[in-house]
Amino acid sequence: MSRTIRTFEATITNQRQVRGDLDQLGWAASKLWNVGRYYAQEQWDETGEIPDDGELKAELKSHERYTDLHSQSSQRVLEELAEAFNGWFGKRRNGDDRARPPGYRKNGDSHPRSTVSFKAAGFKHDAQFTRVRLSKGRNLKEHRSDFILCEYQTRPDVDLTEWDIQQVRAVYKRDEWRLQFVCRTTIDPEPPGDEVAGVDLGICNFAAVSFGGESVLYPGGALKEDEYYFTKKKAKCDDSSSREATRLDRKRTGRRTHFLHALSKALVEECVERGVGTLVVGDLDGIREDDENGDSRNWGDHGNLDLHGWAFDRFTTLLEYKAEAEGIDVELVSERDTSKSCSACDHTDDSQRVERGLYVCDECGTVANADVNGAENIRQKVLPSLATDGGDRDNGWLAQPAVHLFDRSEGVFAPREQVVNREP
Ligand SMILES: [Zn+2]
Repeated sequence: MSRTIRTFEATITNQRQVRGDLDQLGWAASKLWNVGRYYAQEQWDETGEIPDDGELKAELKSHERYTDLHSQSSQRVLEELAEAFNGWFGKRRNGDDRARPPGYRKNGDSHPRSTVSFKAAGFKHDAQFTRVRLSKGRNLKEHRSDFILCEYQTRPDVDLTEWDIQQVRAVYKRDEWRLQFVCRTTIDPEPPGDEVAGVDLGICNFAAVSFGGESVLYPGGALKEDEYYFTKKKAKCDDSSSREATRLDRKRTGRRTHFLHALSKALVEECVERGVGTLVVGDLDGIREDDENGDSRNWGDHGNLDLHGWAFDRFTTLLEYKAEAEGIDVELVSERDTSKSCSACDHTDDSQRVERGLYVCDECGTVANADVNGAENIRQKVLPSLATDGGDRDNGWLAQPAVHLFDRSEGVFAPREQVVNREP
């Protein structure tokens, strides 16, 4: 959980007045869950695939049960259902045979009271009188402006006016309804420190990060493998607009997005741990121009895939968003010459060749991982005062980055045991 999001629980002080209405919504949420669960089962039997939340929403939005709740509340129920299926898939992939798919929410003839979520359009908060107005769906409204007005009480040390309420949840707990306020702080978070890190984006190493003195590589192999897999599978489809082809496209997008989320999350966590307050990212326009030199920026002999620009743009957006939540400033700088200059002595050589991923400086003799050298050059663009003292510093780290690999089964990036060169 991000440090800037917090959930506060409150008791409802007019429980008796709102209980009946909240019961109706809680039961409605269970019924909608069951409708979604049933639809997912049908799809599973027919195609062997479980629909994602986008498909569930599109299919069920005209269903009668959908309009029992505010549309955003109904959407949330179906998102939860899709998340529950994803969790089950994850466990099965990890070899947990006992994992059960999400079940129906039914207890004999009665439905349990499910949690009901209200997003921005579904609630109205009145801080002055500590009450909140919750929307019902069209079906359950007795008249146009029928809503549920809950008066609440939080812990005395909580002041909701200091927070920006993103979502309100009605939760049935210990025989009564309670409210949960999911909040974002309105105060900018303090940066984790004043260190500066540089990020070089590329194809083989999707991201190379220099912390100045240490570096980490995040290879893009998993993304690339997916790309081949889906391209191949799609080629087998008779018709590129068929249902199967559409399903593959959607799945591919989901996998890409997950990879980029996991990567940006891992990178920001690394920055927080190292007290980074400024993250300098090489501007993408440079990458597209850099193709004259080919080499590491290219997909090699597999040709260029459309992934390219899309993934870098999307990744930068995710990175900015996640870094901002931690108080880290993201600066975009031009990548020009960052692959041709030596980050140790600043020597620039246009004819500089990168061989087997290594940058070797003719001037000072520094040997660096080419992507780390690029990342360090990017980092130095916002550190103009840095002494370029060449051989005086120990530059060994430039050639020995740590590698964090994408772990498919866990869906996260994790450090790979560093392979240390031993004496022969
Ligand atoms: Zn040099």
